[in-house]
Amino acid sequence: MECEYSHDEMILENIGNLTTFNPDSGEVETTSNTSLAIEDGIIVEKGIGEKFDCSECLVTPGFVDPHTHPVFLNLRVDEVAMRKAGVTYEEIAAKGGGINSSINGVRNASEDELIERVSKRMDQMIKLGTTTIECKSGYGLNIESELKSLKVIHQVNKRHEMDMIPTFLGAHAFPPEFADDRDGYVDLLCNEMIPAVAEQGIAVFCDVFCENGYFNVDQSRRILNTSKELGLIPRLHADEFEDSGAAELAADVGAISADHLMAVSSVGMQKLADKNITATLLPGTTFFLDKDTYAPAQTLMEMGIDIALATDFNPGSCHIQSMPFIIHLAIKHMDMTVEQAFASSTYFSAKALNLEHKVGSLTIGRKADIIVWDVKKLENIPFHDSDVPIKMIIKNGKAINS
Ligand SMILES: [Zn+2]
Repeated sequence: MECEYSHDEMILENIGNLTTFNPDSGEVETTSNTSLAIEDGIIVEKGIGEKFDCSECLVTPGFVDPHTHPVFLNLRVDEVAMRKAGVTYEEIAAKGGGINSSINGVRNASEDELIERVSKRMDQMIKLGTTTIECKSGYGLNIESELKSLKVIHQVNKRHEMDMIPTFLGAHAFPPEFADDRDGYVDLLCNEMIPAVAEQGIAVFCDVFCENGYFNVDQSRRILNTSKELGLIPRLHADEFEDSGAAELAADVGAISADHLMAVSSVGMQKLADKNITATLLPGTTFFLDKDTYAPAQTLMEMGIDIALATDFNPGSCHIQSMPFIIHLAIKHMDMTVEQAFASSTYFSAKALNLEHKVGSLTIGRKADIIVWDVKKLENIPFHDSDVPIKMIIKNGKAINS
């Protein structure tokens, strides 16, 4: 049959359950036996487009993954066996492994090599339902390789259906050449690297790994204030291993999100609540490293803090690409309900990227980033813990696999 409509118009018909967080009511809501119209990549009230039969299945927004480290060359697969054998992180690093091997990989790779790797990773993740993703640099740790990493994100974003939001994470670790001159590296970040990133306009956010033994609170404050003055929005890796005062710093600098928070203090939580800062939790890392230190999601929620969930996809400590699996972990290990975990993977994860008015919910005027599932209801998503039953992904109003 010939199609008389442009491909920018589509109607999803015979939706069994349309489930989305509703920003007006503050609840996850389900509308049964409904349809959804799309025009020019946006959800509209009424449509005239080509019809797609959803066979009474579930329809949700695409997932938003607000914390990933996808710009690296190779996975550090050998470290899993080393960790199992009791070799510590410091010993792995002393043998040239850990983050140092990722730094060498990125520094020695060409832009094209990295573009190819990152594109493939985006192919995988979009198939798993992620339609918007935050992507950090942070394995270059010198001007040239950090700018190269951000250019790679920019190039892949231009060619790929995935919406990629770039974050500068030059303060991920201290590079080997600055091991004995940490303040010297902070000088380099503030005086040269952040201004270069800001001038090129290739990052939205600036992130810091703020933790005792890594970037301390004073160094992190200086880096984030410098980036803020130059137009980058601050976000933090905060209190992952111990309470380092990072959540308090997130509140002080007005960060959009404080991430990890496994060891956050009650004072830190109160400050996040007072400043309405989203807590981005990464249960995949705890799971992948075989630990039991999951972030205190219940307490954070009781204090009224918005929770976002993310994969923390990276070459060493977490290779999970699937937001449905993160939802499974959040329910199992952080006692979140399926509705809470779903809202934290769509609307609130969009909020952690300052994008909640564009993506993360299915209401009129939002981007048509949609998952048509092969199952009937929301509870199926975490239940399918090792497969992702997706019938079709719609990105910017266009079907990208079927
Ligand atoms: Zn991270």
